[in-house]
Amino acid sequence: MHSVPPHHLAPTYTTCYPKASHYTTEQTFDQVFRNVTPLWENGSMKTTIASLSREIHTESDAYLYLENLRWHGTPVCPKCASTDVHYVEPSNGVSRTTAGGSQSERRVWKCQPCRKQFSVLTGTMMHATKIPVRTWVMVIFEMCSSKNGVAAREIERKYGLCPRTAWHMLHRIREAMSHDDATLFSGDVVSDEVYIGGVPGNRHADKDDVKGTYGRTDMTPVVTLIDEDTHEARSTVLPWVDSASLGTVIRDNVDMATTTLHTDSLRAYIPIGRKMAGHYSVDHRAGIYGTDKTNGTNLCENYFAQLKRGLKGTHIHVDPKHLHRYLGEFDYRFSTFEMTDTERMEDLGARMSGRLSYELVKA
Ligand SMILES: [Zn+2]
Repeated sequence: MHSVPPHHLAPTYTTCYPKASHYTTEQTFDQVFRNVTPLWENGSMKTTIASLSREIHTESDAYLYLENLRWHGTPVCPKCASTDVHYVEPSNGVSRTTAGGSQSERRVWKCQPCRKQFSVLTGTMMHATKIPVRTWVMVIFEMCSSKNGVAAREIERKYGLCPRTAWHMLHRIREAMSHDDATLFSGDVVSDEVYIGGVPGNRHADKDDVKGTYGRTDMTPVVTLIDEDTHEARSTVLPWVDSASLGTVIRDNVDMATTTLHTDSLRAYIPIGRKMAGHYSVDHRAGIYGTDKTNGTNLCENYFAQLKRGLKGTHIHVDPKHLHRYLGEFDYRFSTFEMTDTERMEDLGARMSGRLSYELVKA
């Protein structure tokens, strides 16, 4: 039997939402929450930093918020995917004592078929985190709503985290934002390249002495494919730009037989273009940016403008070996441009499985 305790159906994050910290033993969850509309039925609810700080006061509040975001009222066991689960209420109604002796407001569920206990964090990027869950919610929202991205230094200062923790936290969120490459693009697809980094003024002082790190060779080429219909963007770091490297990326991401490619006049696109349903190019040097058959690479230009603003303004210097993670973040925000910040937050909630270990990020 699927059992959802009444308080699970409670949070609406409207101004009258009672905090978990306000529960008393005399007043049951049921009495507190009886007449409240669930979050996922309240389409007009708008998430802002202000609304989050107003509604999420405690760790328990943050767990409740994520449960709503990820489960929409139907908790699912991360181990066996059963919905036959029940809430394990702490004896004092609010918190339980951990093995270390401290109090934890972690909300625990138990699966009937597999007998495993879990929380909304199990199997996500936040699994076994030492960072307050409330901080995670805030930072995830900042990542969802900041057009130019969020700098680790800024998160470190604002939320009182150590630099390594802030940096790692943002990379985990970027990983959740990254596309899974599962589906192939079809129809009209735009492709263009951009070179990232390598500007001496934007480099760390200690790197300026390294021989051979200046100049063009220091710039990292990136190719971005955008599906004209869905607006989905996928960016890939390239070792260099030539027919073979561009061809590999295009073959990996599009259904060749049903895709028409739109590019500038770079000759490296000609061989792969011949193998596709169609290939239209515009000659920027001749001042042509679009014809009756193609909108050229305008979509990619828009994407690159946003990417450069973010990388130069917010992140200042991005190590080429981590660049693909930043691209995942910018791809995600570009691809979900029609979503509100609230919808993007919900969408990300569905992607929060898997966890990026620190070792993986360092590699
Ligand atoms: Zn289970």
